Amino acid sequence: MAIVREAEPTAAGRRRYELANPATLAGIGSFECAGVQDVTEMVERAREAQPGWAALGPAGRARYLRRALAHLVSHQDDLVDVIVRESGKPRTEALMIDVFAAADALSHTARNAERWLRPERARPHGVLRFTKKLHLQYQPLGVVGVISPWNGPLILSLNPALQALVAGNTVVLKPSEVTPYSGKLAVDLFSRTGLPEGVFQVALGDGSTGAALVDSDIDKVHFTGSVATGRRIAESCAKRLVPYTLELGGNDAMIVCEDADLDAAAGGAVTGAMFNTGQYCCGTERVYVMQEVAQEFTEKVVARVEALRQGASGSFDVGPMCFEPQLDKVSAQVDQAVASGATVLTGGERNTDLDGLFYRPTVLADVDHSMAVMSEETFGPVLPIVTVSSIDEAVKLANDTTYGLAGSVWTTDEQRGVQIASRMHTGSVSVNDMAVTYGIPEAPFGGRGDSGVGQANGKLGVRGFTHIQPIIVDRFGGKQTAQQYPYSRQGERTIQRLIKAIWGRGLRRFT
Ligand code: NAD
Repeated sequence: MAIVREAEPTAAGRRRYELANPATLAGIGSFECAGVQDVTEMVERAREAQPGWAALGPAGRARYLRRALAHLVSHQDDLVDVIVRESGKPRTEALMIDVFAAADALSHTARNAERWLRPERARPHGVLRFTKKLHLQYQPLGVVGVISPWNGPLILSLNPALQALVAGNTVVLKPSEVTPYSGKLAVDLFSRTGLPEGVFQVALGDGSTGAALVDSDIDKVHFTGSVATGRRIAESCAKRLVPYTLELGGNDAMIVCEDADLDAAAGGAVTGAMFNTGQYCCGTERVYVMQEVAQEFTEKVVARVEALRQGASGSFDVGPMCFEPQLDKVSAQVDQAVASGATVLTGGERNTDLDGLFYRPTVLADVDHSMAVMSEETFGPVLPIVTVSSIDEAVKLANDTTYGLAGSVWTTDEQRGVQIASRMHTGSVSVNDMAVTYGIPEAPFGGRGDSGVGQANGKLGVRGFTHIQPIIVDRFGGKQTAQQYPYSRQGERTIQRLIKAIWGRGLRRFT
């Protein structure tokens, strides 16, 4: 959608929404929200199905991921059609953000699941290794609730779900009400694999449906969305001590050094800010460029932005805002910045040449941190540029935010780039690239500060949907413990001699 409008409730009293394509404003159907009872029943079915699903083991479960992948590969156009209808984005972006990334996530996770989840033997350190054996088991948590947003509706539903599934959990997904059918595609892919009933279900609905899922009898919540909703979910989870992962918003900074390749940096800035019409959690929201190159860099950025084609059909580069509140938010931030002294270098207004929810790709100068466009997440096609006189100033300004999702540094000196990146207080940083962490499962993905709690993807992500259970086996069949009592002075002296021998005399092989 898109444009989502609450309609008359159904005969059964369920809330119903009408959807419209944000690029054309044409109606594209409706959906009913699952209520508390519906969600409760889904979670019960998921709970019943979980032991059987877990019993298949990682290799057995990975087979279903491979079948879902095969279906995705042969139905790419069908998936893109649904996503484009609800979001209005260019087909290339639906392919890149949702379909390509989904294929890679399914394939990579299926290939590695057995290795990541295999029970392990670990060796206790020091003297303990003479007395104890240690086994580590990756046990499923049970039923996982996945709640997803509208900006990457398939990948942000599918990716956490497939990780939870392969770890042996069953999943109930609640996709965004703005893109319900794009989110549901994640479940549709699996429904063609012969997946046992109850293993992966979808509850269409709005925030109330999401809240019902969080409050239901689930064992973990994986949430992707806004900071405000993330906080509410954390509060609800705290009441039942349910673990959660929160992937929240960002206000990512880009630092352009004086030695940067300016064509590459300008290209990166434009892609970073305009990709998915700026509705990208790791989108470039602020640029800090060194004064020596600021003018040339800015001219290159503006030229590239002005060359972008905005549209609703055929070949175009930038789509609409996904839904009305987002368009209003972007307009309000830009208008407020301009009223406070910002200069619009290009764009700066709604694109009324098109019928849909289009905002013109925008570049701003003369901005500062008193403006919401700098201090808040904009989540639109807006790129504010600030000139700085030193890298220290750039780093200080980049870190002057409550968010901490990602960021980028642009320089031809790789070592310097890594060094500057390590000073940025964010979940991840790219050097000479826009934020790409989410697509690299070897790079744990997650935010700091207001940008989230926990990290996801790859081995760490899959194991995050398990309880790592250590099983400790005594090498002497429990005989030592049996001799614990009675305590005596002699026993204490033996312990003290042991402490002195190991850590006092530095017997390193026993430490
Ligand atoms: P949102 O918080 O409004 O909604 C996200 C989901 O939460 C939706 O499915 C919604 O129905 C549901 N929801 C709303 N209220 C709820 C409640 N009380 N309890 C449970 N669920 C509830 O966010 P959005 O507008 O859909 O998404 C945009 C935001 O998501 C942006 O801030 C963006 O940066 C962020 N995001 C973050 C990442 C990341 O990985 N860090 C990725 C994509 C998007």
